[in-house]
Amino acid sequence: MAACLFCRIISGEIPSRKVYEDDRTFAFEDIRPGAPTHILLLPKRHLAGLAEATAADESLLGYLQLQAAELARRRGLDRGYRTVLNVGPDAGQSVFHLHLHLLGGRPLSWPPG
Ligand code: 5GP
Ligand code: ZN
Repeated sequence: MAACLFCRIISGEIPSRKVYEDDRTFAFEDIRPGAPTHILLLPKRHLAGLAEATAADESLLGYLQLQAAELARRRGLDRGYRTVLNVGPDAGQSVFHLHLHLLGGRPLSWPPG
């Protein structure tokens, strides 16, 4: 989707600090990190968010979680980390291309704000 910020990051039109890429997914550093590690993991194919996902996206959603776990291992987040999908306005979703946040490197309070 040409107008989508994250599609433009995936294509390289807008620069980002890329962390990982494969045929299905792309991961980069969040521009406003909320923790020492704050990575966004995205499907390359445009999908607005979890609310728009269907059964066809089942393996993709699991794959993103497993990629997050692998990146957490590589970052040495042995004390723990959090993966987050913000869905819709009340959850603060601000970019409507599904992205999984990986946050770690400090104690994370619960529940989130
Ligand atoms: P959301 O609030 O939609 O769950 O998360 C969007 C995230 O994207 C935010 O944490 C925000 O800091 C990040 N973000 C927004 N624009 C950019 C950008 O241009 N580059 C990068 N690297 N991150 C961005
Ligand atoms: Zn997009």
